Amino acid sequence: MSHRYDLVVLGGGIVGIWTARQAAARGARVALVEIGPSSLGDEAAPKPALRFSRRENLGATRARHHVLTGNSPYWGGGLCRNDCETLREMFSLESCAVATARLARHYDGIERTLGITPSLPSAQPQPLLEELTLSEIAVLPGKRRGLWSGFAEQVRRGRSAVTCLVASTISEVASDPLGQVNSVTVELSSGKVARLQAPLFALAMGVVDSNLFALRNLGGILSEEAKRYVGTRLHDHWSVPLARMRWKNGTPLSQLFPPKFYRGGIVGRRSCDSVGFFHFTANLDELPPYDRVKKFLSVRQKGETFGRQVRAALGTVGRPLLMARAGVHYLLERELYIPDGCEITLTFDFQSYASALNRIAIEGDEAVLDWDIRPQDIDAFGRTVSARRDSLCRALSSHGLEVEWLAGDGGSGASAEYLGKAAIDAFHLGGGLQVCGAANDGVVDSRFVVRGTTNLHVLGTANFRRPGLANPVLTLLAQSQQFVFEHFDQGAVQ
Ligand SMILES: Cc1cc2nc3c(=O)[nH]c(=O)nc-3n(C[C@H](O)[C@H](O)[C@H](O)COP(=O)(O)OP(=O)(O)OC[C@H]3O[C@@H](n4cnc5c(N)ncnc54)[C@H](O)[C@@H]3O)c2cc1C
Repeated sequence: MSHRYDLVVLGGGIVGIWTARQAAARGARVALVEIGPSSLGDEAAPKPALRFSRRENLGATRARHHVLTGNSPYWGGGLCRNDCETLREMFSLESCAVATARLARHYDGIERTLGITPSLPSAQPQPLLEELTLSEIAVLPGKRRGLWSGFAEQVRRGRSAVTCLVASTISEVASDPLGQVNSVTVELSSGKVARLQAPLFALAMGVVDSNLFALRNLGGILSEEAKRYVGTRLHDHWSVPLARMRWKNGTPLSQLFPPKFYRGGIVGRRSCDSVGFFHFTANLDELPPYDRVKKFLSVRQKGETFGRQVRAALGTVGRPLLMARAGVHYLLERELYIPDGCEITLTFDFQSYASALNRIAIEGDEAVLDWDIRPQDIDAFGRTVSARRDSLCRALSSHGLEVEWLAGDGGSGASAEYLGKAAIDAFHLGGGLQVCGAANDGVVDSRFVVRGTTNLHVLGTANFRRPGLANPVLTLLAQSQQFVFEHFDQGAVQ
């Protein structure tokens, strides 16, 4: 059975669904191929399982869900912009102007679509260190993350404008000698086989599976140069606690913490330098009353049974005084209520080095991820600690906080040991199919087209050269939007 489309999207997660829906909304005939089932309840463990030859990368398993909607029922909803200079570095673009023209200009439209209102400009001085820049992360409320689950519901009811093939396995990619991918062959859940033809294909299987797909299926298509880089130079953010303190409301640091209610969601603030960002964290999952609220939101977001949702909702009213206190604080201050004396942590999230040693490979039936803290990570962390420890401690103390510094003095031995025990990856694994830099050292070109092909695009963190200074989803959606704009806007449907 052969079918013709304008676009075939491979992978139905956050990026694949966004891309398919946006293209279909512009009149394109779109097919989406998803390996997992259409309902969360039928989700099984992804195959092949990943083995970690050194250190575990938590996001490689926790963000890998083989189900239609991908990681969307599990992500935190944090949307953050990269500035144009960071985008330029992430995608090796010639200038800040090009980065804005290609990606940053889509941030506004995506935020509007998701119901996040424009940022409030803040003229207050930076309360941590003057030379750091402030940036905002808006957390999309759970009910507005339903865009992806809403799509799955349409698919289940047979009402989607996108032809969605769930529980389907791609067995072959066919291309011509000029590198035009002509079709993918798919084994459907019914046992039948379908050949999907299109002038355009988008690989959006998430970082682990996009890399595995390239390793398995694109060997005969990739240019010789690109082959050398597939699966290598993976990266993430390292998240490292620097200092512990007891929180005190009403100081200038309240500009940074707790998160505020505005922009149509909850907004956190962070202080960025060129390597990463500093922010305050509290263990809200265990802090009453947010522990039970969080449990309820998670049950609702995952679409669990009505009975479970009611039980979780009832749990949130079990502490009436505390809930009332948080409610009054919300009304007066428009922020989350964090009591004085609550333990909070100054945390540094920084871009891990995209080392050639960080790589994913297929060995027999297994997928193996070689992931670790590399010397360049230790060096970057040590330099930050040496340069900033004293000034950060001084700044925090000047606001009346008693600081317990946790992260050593920045010496290389101490930094290595500390990172080894305290750093966690931030679930933002990327790379392996990175955009080429000046040295032609990548797998896709500046328009995310796989080198050696003319029409297979990679959409996802797999094409990032480095993690950037933001959580990835907003930039991923900007990438998708640019892809759709280039191919389907202004009546460009072929
Ligand atoms: C707990 C957690 C919290 C997070 N919070 C945030 C946050 O607040 N902000 C943020 O920006 N990022 C966050 N992230 C990261 C974010 O979720 C990912 O960057 C994002 O999901 C990537 O989207 P994607 O579409 O590329 O991949 P996914 O959402 O993983 O989708 C990939 C899809 O491809 C399908 N697939 C895989 N293999 C195949 C195949 N062979 N054939 C067909 N289909 C296939 C999968 O089944 C899946 O549906 C978080 C991650 C985790 C784990």
